[in-house]
Amino acid sequence: SEGRRTYRFFMPEMDTKAKARHELATELKRAVAERAFQLHFQPLVDLNSGAVAGCEALLRWPHPVRGFVSPAEFIPLAEDIGLIEELGEWVLEQACGVAVGWPAAMTVAVNVSPIQFRRATFPLKVAAALARSGLAAHRLELEITEALLLQDTESTLTILNQLRALGVKIALDDFGTGYSSLSYLHRFPIDKIKIDKSFVDTLTDQAGSAPIVRAIVQIAAAGNKTTLAEGVETAAQRDLLRQLGCQQMQGYLFSPALPAEALARLIAGGDVE
Ligand code: C2E
Ligand code: CA
Ligand code: CA
Ligand code: CA
Repeated sequence: SEGRRTYRFFMPEMDTKAKARHELATELKRAVAERAFQLHFQPLVDLNSGAVAGCEALLRWPHPVRGFVSPAEFIPLAEDIGLIEELGEWVLEQACGVAVGWPAAMTVAVNVSPIQFRRATFPLKVAAALARSGLAAHRLELEITEALLLQDTESTLTILNQLRALGVKIALDDFGTGYSSLSYLHRFPIDKIKIDKSFVDTLTDQAGSAPIVRAIVQIAAAGNKTTLAEGVETAAQRDLLRQLGCQQMQGYLFSPALPAEALARLIAGGDVE
């Protein structure tokens, strides 16, 4: 396909990798058709009150042989082979349907792939999921990534404004891992900044990320945006985040993602297990 006068080396290991990928793709296709996924929910906790402010919906693929396949593995594959829209729509419908049963103060956050986001029909799909479930729009938070802000700025703004007009909230996921500058923040209608786990990991180190996190929190506050810290695993991290003025946290310190029933028990004050 690249024409003559080019050549490629062929390695047997490439063949094995390609085969494994092809096999996984075939299984993923079937799983999407059969809706063979689960949604788990990880609590987002208010750092001042300690209350559960909402949850992030995280996809789980229980595979008969491989066990739970990580979304980090199959989301990029779903994007590559054209399955992400169907999968993303299912997540949206499920998440809204579950969240409508939670206390009214709780929100639900849904991850949105850039491919899904850029489809012209996306805002309609969001509106449909809200209407079908009866979930109030302000209780739905869509998580997007920095890469979206960098490419095709005009169309990104248009879609964000359409979504905002519906009343849903927008969160910027994995903040600080992309290439966007802090000055981008006020140009986009974003409600929340999720500070990436990599900053939380080094937060309590000598010469660690605390000054950076403080700066992010201050800039977010100036723009009336909420801040959440991801991947909080220790009480020391939590305490410092609270001191720095961060509003919410998410991480194993409080809870991993749980099946809907276990989460409902947690909210009701029962045991996590
Ligand atoms: P993410 O959006 O950054 O989600 C947070 C990830 O960090 C989750 O991994 C979560 O289980 C994990 N995590 C949370 N707290 C802690 C902690 O304290 N320590 C550690 N080490 N990890 C923690 P998960 O569930 O494996 O998801 C991986 C990624 O897959 C997500 O990263 C997200 O980008 C993507 N993903 C998951 N569900 C969906 C979905 O429904 N749609 C799309 N488009 N992407 C999804
Ligand atoms: Ca996320
Ligand atoms: Ca994240
Ligand atoms: Ca992340």
